[in-house]
Amino acid sequence: MDVQFRSPDQAPSTEPSPAAAAREASEARVQRPRRAAPADAVRPTRAEVNLQALRHNLGIVKRHAGASKIWAVLKADGYGHGAPAVARTLERAGADGFCVALLEEAIELREAGIMAPILVMGGYYGGAQADLVASGLVPVIYDLGQAEGFARLARSGDVSGPVDVHLKIDTGMARLGVTLDSLGAFAERLAEIPEVRVVGLMTHLASADALTNEETTTQMVRFDEATALLARCGIRPRVRHAANSAAVLRGQAELDIARPGIALFGVSPRLPSPSQPSGEAIVSGLRQVMRVRSEVVDLRDIPAGAAVGYGALWRAARRSRIATIPMGYADGLSRSLSNRGHVLVRGRRAPIVGAISMDLSMLDVTDLPGVALRDEVVVLGSQEGPLGKDCIGVDELADHAGTIAWEVLTSISRRVPRFYREP
Ligand SMILES: *Cc1c(COP(=O)(O)O)cnc(C)c1O
Repeated sequence: MDVQFRSPDQAPSTEPSPAAAAREASEARVQRPRRAAPADAVRPTRAEVNLQALRHNLGIVKRHAGASKIWAVLKADGYGHGAPAVARTLERAGADGFCVALLEEAIELREAGIMAPILVMGGYYGGAQADLVASGLVPVIYDLGQAEGFARLARSGDVSGPVDVHLKIDTGMARLGVTLDSLGAFAERLAEIPEVRVVGLMTHLASADALTNEETTTQMVRFDEATALLARCGIRPRVRHAANSAAVLRGQAELDIARPGIALFGVSPRLPSPSQPSGEAIVSGLRQVMRVRSEVVDLRDIPAGAAVGYGALWRAARRSRIATIPMGYADGLSRSLSNRGHVLVRGRRAPIVGAISMDLSMLDVTDLPGVALRDEVVVLGSQEGPLGKDCIGVDELADHAGTIAWEVLTSISRRVPRFYREP
């Protein structure tokens, strides 16, 4: 296979835009998330992002989305994959828009040349509302203070015309969003703020991956009630959206737009299943986008009874061969994997032994004859070439670490450089 590695820094546009330059000069600078550049990477631990797999997954998601447009959710640096490169790939492959949590995440995408609509879902814009509107970003609001902030901006002439927003309704998450109880009063006040135009209405589903769709149905009924109530106050959004990956893949909550995240990265949400302890994937055929690999940097034989790592959490029951890899919890290999889970070496599984340290972890390779220094060690995904039959899935790692796939992916830290791969 002809593998081409491209650094995320070799992006088409490296020239700062005029807007970016203006921001640089302004007092209130927006902090942008940064990652170590691959050129800095001298250690062998790295994450490879397969852009072809990403396009493949978008295709699967689209086939399940019916008539809904796809606004890919790329919060937290594109679920840890590097939002600019992911967004560029998805935009070219036909994603209709993007959603992020933070204003700074949205600005990063604009600066990467993304032209599609970008929804900022978190709702906190600080003093940067003018920046937001100038960058053509779409804010989500859920309280009157936010609406009044944008109205002041429009009245001051800093932006021309009304500000388009999406309004978030709480239909059962108890997190963000206007509740149905307060929506009547909210809508009456909002109708008096002509500078703010509600062009979209959204809600978020709490249990789209539950066995029954009772909860989702209840939420969608409330969402329809909210829509009707707003209409009575003259507020008629052009688009509505609710579905996350689980809902899209199950064909539920199909509205004008869908907001898939995790499925694009190759992880299918799971439904509880009596036969499979970790649940049953809603769809098969998604391809894991991220591969995380390192190398054996140390090998040693220890006698029976010898301990490994901090706190002597593991003790050799027999004469053992221990391999060390330069990846630890500061890289996103959760400390809860201490003495749990495995990695792939020479196409086979080697258990993680002892406590995961900040920068290093140890493996028991006693049963894998021939392991040598510089051997590839795969933490997530498959090995290269003929050794690549076995695969460590994000879900598997999440189960061992006692967490969920979303946290595994977003925990791979910025000191693990991302390499982009076009097969
Ligand atoms: C994260 C998020 C999504 C995407 O969820 P997935 O389960 O990753 O598909 C959609 N909508 C909102 C509001 C979110 O916060």
